[in-house]
Amino acid sequence: MEEILSKYNTSIQGLSEDEALKRQKKYGLNKLDEKKQTPLIILFLSQFIDILIALLLIAAIASIAIGDYIDAGVIILAVLLNTILGFIQEYRSRKAVDSLESLMVKKAVVKRENEIIEVEAEKLTIGDIVVLEEGNKCPADLALIECKNLNCDESNLTGESEAVLKQVNDNVFMDSNIISGHGLGVVENIGMKTEIGKIAKIVQEEDEETPLEVRVGRLGKILSAIAIVVCIIIFILELLQGVGLVETFMTAVSLAVAAIPEGLPAVLTLTLALGMSEMASSNAIVKRLLSVETLGSCTIICSDKTGTLTENRMNVVESYLTNEDRTLLISKLCNNATIKNDKTIGNQTDGAILKFAKDYDTSLERLDEIPLDSNRKMMTTIHRLDDENNIVLSKGAPEIILDKCKYIDDNGNIEIIEAESKEKILKKINEMSEKSLRVIGFAYKINDEHVPEENLIFTGLLGLIDPPKENAKQAVTDCINAGIAVKMITGDHEKTARAIAKHLGILTTGQVITGAELERLTDDEYLAMAEDIQVYARVKPAQKMRIVETLKNLGNIVAMTGDGVNDAPALKKASIGVAMGDGTDVAKESADMILQDNDFSTIVKAIKEGRKIYDNIKRFVKFQVSTNVGAILTIIGTTLLNLPLPFNPAQLLWLNIVMDGPPAQTLGMEGAEKDTMTRPPETGDILTKNTLLQIFLLGLVMAIGTVIVFGWQIYSGATTKKAMSVAFTLFVVYQLFNAYNGKSNSDQSSRYLYAGIILSFILQLFILYIPQLQILFRTTAIGIVEWIVIIIVASSILFAQKIMNKVIE
Ligand code: ADP
Ligand code: MG
Repeated sequence: MEEILSKYNTSIQGLSEDEALKRQKKYGLNKLDEKKQTPLIILFLSQFIDILIALLLIAAIASIAIGDYIDAGVIILAVLLNTILGFIQEYRSRKAVDSLESLMVKKAVVKRENEIIEVEAEKLTIGDIVVLEEGNKCPADLALIECKNLNCDESNLTGESEAVLKQVNDNVFMDSNIISGHGLGVVENIGMKTEIGKIAKIVQEEDEETPLEVRVGRLGKILSAIAIVVCIIIFILELLQGVGLVETFMTAVSLAVAAIPEGLPAVLTLTLALGMSEMASSNAIVKRLLSVETLGSCTIICSDKTGTLTENRMNVVESYLTNEDRTLLISKLCNNATIKNDKTIGNQTDGAILKFAKDYDTSLERLDEIPLDSNRKMMTTIHRLDDENNIVLSKGAPEIILDKCKYIDDNGNIEIIEAESKEKILKKINEMSEKSLRVIGFAYKINDEHVPEENLIFTGLLGLIDPPKENAKQAVTDCINAGIAVKMITGDHEKTARAIAKHLGILTTGQVITGAELERLTDDEYLAMAEDIQVYARVKPAQKMRIVETLKNLGNIVAMTGDGVNDAPALKKASIGVAMGDGTDVAKESADMILQDNDFSTIVKAIKEGRKIYDNIKRFVKFQVSTNVGAILTIIGTTLLNLPLPFNPAQLLWLNIVMDGPPAQTLGMEGAEKDTMTRPPETGDILTKNTLLQIFLLGLVMAIGTVIVFGWQIYSGATTKKAMSVAFTLFVVYQLFNAYNGKSNSDQSSRYLYAGIILSFILQLFILYIPQLQILFRTTAIGIVEWIVIIIVASSILFAQKIMNKVIE
């Protein structure tokens, strides 16, 4: 040990803060090079890499070649507007995701100036003494100077999933996970100099596509295929009619732009990313866009009890002691918490027990420890009593302790436990547990035998209160109203779990089952009753896996909370793994969402936000795609009726900007529906058959109206320019009414949406009445009669939606 310490010019007290700072300057920060972000200029330029944009630019060049500068100007303007819009969307998405990353700074526990403190892992430097505990992610490359049962998972580095038991002088490498035990290590290497830095195998999560993005993408492809076919037909027809090649090409390309929902993926990503920020501001850090979407469809929440549903502020309120003195001794010594200014540092249960024994004075050298473990649910320490004897001290789940007791210490008389007194103790345990108390049993023995946790002497029980969180009850009620089942999974006693679950409204008509009972069930038996079980007590972490799997097999979207190392597999398996802000690094890494306030109600808030986002996505997908369908059908209609094309290229490009622009964007910002949390979860496809049918019918209504009004104009002798201006305006007004169709029934005002609609309308007026714009868009002013017709016909889309709401769905 001395050797390592002196090699790095440090001591067991740790570095001084001054020295640490000095070394930080010398060696740099302890971080791995991050994924290089695309520079903004590239992000901007990449907006141009798009087939449609390329075609538009070709059309612009062709227009210039034939001397048509106006059209070329319009196209270039449209391209610029489109790319700026796309750039802003991507930039905002990126900002939203970046700001989340800064919320997830890694921490390390380090000894400096002989004090144990928490620092940002980046600020570790060579020679720092790092404390490693179960559940930590090792923050740098360390050489161990102390360790106890330290098991490391180095699969990040070696690919080997078997944990490695470490000894003093061994290395523990950056980013490996501490599975159990604890240790003390000197920092040998930091940042890119570490083993993981050298191979630069930084585990970077790929930006995978969410199911929604995939489905929307598929819909886009289908529409594109149809649009392309229509464009080719129009192209050929126009050519046959003797229209110039360049002009025909321009029409075909603009039509493609208006008919293909190319802006959809960007709005989708942006909406999800903004949702992430929104969730983060209410303490739920969601790590992937995908989870934002999944949250909205969650059907079951499996929640821990302690710390999530309860305060985790414990206090001893009841006791049953057969030997008070001995119980106090065990309380004091078989304990890993410390109390500082009346606050517990470490395990809260230990803290409460330590406070209970605060006036008891003792100190015996600790020789060994069998740590608390969520499977055994007890802990044991071994101390030197005198020159010849050791004393073994145990505390833990009372029935488990009792099971390991052979004797009872009745105020100094040590006797074999009779069935009668065992009965009495068990009755006491039940009584206390029924009052929601967490009961801890105490036992000891003198002189070490081979197996320390056997043939113990019972000394008493303590009952600890851990009050349920005030807002948890309401949050459970909210879940039930929203059709989300809540299940409590706890390591605590069945009776305690039952009492608290009843109080919170989690246990209603369903069943309570213990881990042991669950183990005896066959898969089929369990599957049959899984949805009916509301409380799981005395569960081992490994069983959480079976619970998640079974509930998922029953078709549920399951959110599961956890905080320990053993919870990690279940968190990964869950549809939404939820880790606690003060849980272990390992749990946080495996989770999809981190609750910074460890609060159950935060999950419910995130679900509400998720549902709102789901609705908003539905709104703008429906809006944008029905416009695309409307445009295609209108063109098909006029072609079939042998009418001229109702829109020119500039007008088509404008239509595209209207629908990717203000109305679509603001539809994504609508407030939550009033019934967001009073309706059952939607787990199916966002683009159901009904939604697709609605989209088609909305498009059809727009097309029929536009074709009829356009035909009426042509046959009543209006100039083509006038007829086109009317048809174009009608189609735009259709969109504005259709955007209004997407308005949410919310307590929040739809002011953004209204502003978006009004803005688009004013711009449309500019296009119709400002002479310069009339030249650009080849429009002409339209009169009052036409306006009346336009408003009446366009409003048909409102009625169409109303009727569909009644008939479809
Ligand atoms: P929960 O699921 O409520 O978080 P835990 O896993 O924390 O439950 O605890 C499970 C059981 O382990 C407790 O009911 C208790 O019997 C025992 N236990 C918890 N903490 C301690 C401790 N510090 N010392 C001894 N036993 C403990
Ligand atoms: Mg726990």
